[in-house]
Amino acid sequence: MAHELLRKSPNSMASVVSSKPSRLMTRRRLAAMPKLPKRDDEFMQRLERAEATNRQLREAIDMLPQGVVVLDSEGRYVLWNQQYADIYKKSADLFEIGVRLEDTLRIGVARGDYPEARGREEQWIAERVRRLYQPKERHEQWISDGRCILIDERLTTDGGVVGLRVDISELKEREASFRMLFEANPVPMFVARREDKVILSANRAAIRHYGFALEDLRTKTLFDLHHPADHQNLESLYDGRADQFAGQTWRHLKADATSIDVAIYASSITQGQTPAILFAAIDITERKAAEAKVAYLAHHDALTGLANRVFLRKRLDEMLASRKRSGAGVAVLCIDLDNFKIINDSMGHAAGDSLLQQLSERIQGTLRKDDIAARLGGDEFAVVLANANHAVEVSSVAQRIIDVLREPFRVDDQTINVTTSVGIALCPSDGEEAEVLLKNADLALYQAKGDGKGCYRYFEAEMNVRVQARRKIEADLHQAFLNGGLEIHYQPLVSLSSREVSGFEALLRWPHPERGYIPPSEFIPIAEECGLIGSITDFVLQRACHDAARWPKKARLAVNMSPQRFRIGNVFNAVSDALRSSGLEPSRLELEITEALLLENSESVLTILHAIRSLGVRISMDDFGTGYSSLSYLRMFPFDKIKIDGSFVRGIGFGNESQAIIRAIMGLGSSLGMTITAEGIETESEQEFLRAVGCDEGQGFLYSKARPVTEVPELLDMLNQQSQFRLV
Ligand code: C2E
Ligand code: MG
Ligand code: MG
Repeated sequence: MAHELLRKSPNSMASVVSSKPSRLMTRRRLAAMPKLPKRDDEFMQRLERAEATNRQLREAIDMLPQGVVVLDSEGRYVLWNQQYADIYKKSADLFEIGVRLEDTLRIGVARGDYPEARGREEQWIAERVRRLYQPKERHEQWISDGRCILIDERLTTDGGVVGLRVDISELKEREASFRMLFEANPVPMFVARREDKVILSANRAAIRHYGFALEDLRTKTLFDLHHPADHQNLESLYDGRADQFAGQTWRHLKADATSIDVAIYASSITQGQTPAILFAAIDITERKAAEAKVAYLAHHDALTGLANRVFLRKRLDEMLASRKRSGAGVAVLCIDLDNFKIINDSMGHAAGDSLLQQLSERIQGTLRKDDIAARLGGDEFAVVLANANHAVEVSSVAQRIIDVLREPFRVDDQTINVTTSVGIALCPSDGEEAEVLLKNADLALYQAKGDGKGCYRYFEAEMNVRVQARRKIEADLHQAFLNGGLEIHYQPLVSLSSREVSGFEALLRWPHPERGYIPPSEFIPIAEECGLIGSITDFVLQRACHDAARWPKKARLAVNMSPQRFRIGNVFNAVSDALRSSGLEPSRLELEITEALLLENSESVLTILHAIRSLGVRISMDDFGTGYSSLSYLRMFPFDKIKIDGSFVRGIGFGNESQAIIRAIMGLGSSLGMTITAEGIETESEQEFLRAVGCDEGQGFLYSKARPVTEVPELLDMLNQQSQFRLV
């Protein structure tokens, strides 16, 4: 039996302390010992003192939280406390004074109390005994109930052993949990020595993610993991002051030298005896990229990639704030395309988008690194120039933008020409706040558009008033159009050879409730700009065709067609609808166009003009001679009529120049088979000259101003009564 293995051996200590832990030799037991002679009183006293000391020692040992065991030089139990017995509760039945530790171990091993000994029992016992007498360092021992005991032993001077035992099962459990958490964690984790930041270990996720072998990692410091740009703050990060970097992104380098964005969570630990840093590095590269994309989308215009209004405001605010320190000037430019809406409407939105993308690139190309270009919406753009300290520089940027956008664009195999207007506000002279600068640049833009487009204007304080007046006119025009407040008056055209009224030109009149009659030269450009011209033209076409249908058969009707109306498209349908619904014969309708129409996009315009002409409608070139290259336009299209601009007629009485030009036009017209009409004839002598040079037709105050439709019959009567004029 196991107990038989144990041999009791008398021992001096064993006679002093009890074989049972925590139980000291009692006075009763002493009394039971053989009586000693009196001379041994002194011995007795010493014995009692020893007993007291022994008891105190015993109590002290019992109070220790560790298990304590004392063995003699032969490895026999001398003394142990309750904690020791508790720790080895499986073997406690074997503990007896004088029993050899090695023997209790052997029984324990045989019973399977020490799982580490399994399969190598003798070797394990030998190692254990060797350690007992050559104690160098603490070691651990596992017990079959799953506990782990830390053993710390020291040799005593008499060759015995004092041993301490601590149940470190909980610690071991925590260590195991930690190891599991560390090893199996999907987040890359590292442990680095605090002193020199050398990496001691890394988990599987770290090795997999970074691509380093563990041995390689162990040759690195945590600094080596970081991108050099991070190095400045690393000490603080790993010193446990990471809080101040909460939310900060760091950059780590992988084995293949690619860099990743990481969030780092570091804390201090002790690995074995070594102060260390445990840190997790969460790869947030994708999240960062996604965040960056979201931020980009929130701040940029999806079509052109330029900054959007929100981002422009943000950057402008920042620039203005830093300007307060640096004193540098800032310029805000508002940019608007003068004819984008029409291009978009006539060519389709895909073409419009392509145009916007191309011109955004061109705008961007004119700027420096610190400047910002933004698309505010539709065809509205803005540019903010940083360090705009000299108006000359700002003007040159504005002009450059206008120039680069004036270069023709190619969209869908078509050439598109755009003109651009730019309004400029300067900080600090025109305002120091983003809101104010943007508003003022917009007012300046408004002015630029009003001043003929294709130009830039600086903000001036009076613009506010002017723009408001202009906006009011626009609103009034809208109202007038919707409420039938626009009238059509008719001015007669007279045949100079037969002196007959050959027709009437429809001319718009706007009786403004406050301002009286506003001339078409003022409100037609406004209608063109605010997009109302399409509806107005179609209204004139319809109404005038209906009016003319009631006139004597041979009276023709001339209607002015704005170039903008062609850009909107569907002109052919508008004309044929008006003819059909009014019943007016197509040959009685003349459309007056100007050179401005042929200036741009001429192919599609010519196609439409040919189609309209094929209906039988006549096409006239209005205001001839006022454009740039009138003659070449005459080659482009077989016009039925040329109307010599009134300015040449007025010049007749002032010398040979106008007369020579009129003669030349006459020659041209007759050789090309076109009717020539002279506008603005006010005097008999002008009429005489024109008739003499062979002009076919005249129009002017000499005959009549434009009159309301109700006065047309009266006008005809009057002209017929003046014997030389007769309506045929
Ligand atoms: P336009 O087509 O050249 O029209 C002739 C202009 O000369 C008219 O001015 C007419 O009143 C004016 N006029 C005629 N005889 C004389 C004269 O003896 N002396 C002077 N000094 N002027 C004379 P209005 O009606 O002011 O029209 C100006 C321009 O406005 C027109 O020039 C035309 O381009 C435009 N317009 C007028 N109505 C319409 C319209 O319905 N649609 C479009 N798109 N434009 C129109
Ligand atoms: Mg006209
Ligand atoms: Mg004219």
